[in-house]
Amino acid sequence: MDIKIEKLKEYINLYDNIVFFGGAGVSTESGIPDFRSADGLYSQKYRYPPEYMLSHTFFEKQTEEFFEFYREKMIPPSSVKPNAAHNYLACLEEKGKLKAVITQNIDGLHQAAGSKNVLELHGSVWRNYCTKCGKFYKTDLNIKGVPYCSCGGIIKPDVVLYEEGLNDTMLNKAIKSISNASLLIIGGTSLVVYPAAGLVQYFKGDKIVIINKMPTKLDNTADLVIPFGIGKVFESIWKAEKEN
Ligand code: NAD
Repeated sequence: MDIKIEKLKEYINLYDNIVFFGGAGVSTESGIPDFRSADGLYSQKYRYPPEYMLSHTFFEKQTEEFFEFYREKMIPPSSVKPNAAHNYLACLEEKGKLKAVITQNIDGLHQAAGSKNVLELHGSVWRNYCTKCGKFYKTDLNIKGVPYCSCGGIIKPDVVLYEEGLNDTMLNKAIKSISNASLLIIGGTSLVVYPAAGLVQYFKGDKIVIINKMPTKLDNTADLVIPFGIGKVFESIWKAEKEN
């Protein structure tokens, strides 16, 4: 086993109050593109930049196009399954070692893997609500065009679009979890999207580990940086744990 992965395994053994903070890179090994990798959404060509197509303004002004892009790029097809990263984190929670998964992802894969305490900072593609009466709706993959509620309001995905604020309750829960953690594992995030990326400043525990393919601005403050695919990293730890 790689020496850095061995070190992470030691930390996981040592601490019983672990928190995971992750982003789109956690789901790339499930086949969902992130934003900033070479094959991420920002490298693909659209009529407008992806930040704009996922903004509140675009939703308001070009609602039809918003839903077209959102359905095609943001809602994962049913063939997409959790990978070893989601599965291992769910297993760590079941063992009582992992206290929370704080995610910027909106794909629901942590819950699909069995994680219970998942703090979805940016919401979920699997929830929707009427912008007029507030009624909640599940995601219906068969609907085409702009979805409307029986009251006439537009049904909006329960995801935080660019220009929109994060849910305060969710943010406070995330701050509390990070403040109470002894080991913070950060993975699959470029740490450039705020306020999510700023949550790391609330950590007061012992060790920070970053598992990310590309360098991040927090690499020099972390105790351990593992520049590999997160699914592969957790898979090899899980395999070694099972063999012991
Ligand atoms: P990002 O695209 O900015 O960064 C992803 C990071 O993960 C990159 O630094 C990349 O090097 C790294 N990475 C990619 N695959 C990896 C892997 N297998 N193992 C380890 N590292 C890997 O994503 P972000 O930081 O989450 O921020 C952008 C926004 O993207 C978030 O707000 C999120 O809501 C949104 N988003 C979510 C999904 C999803 O739900 N799956 C997909 C795309 C974008």
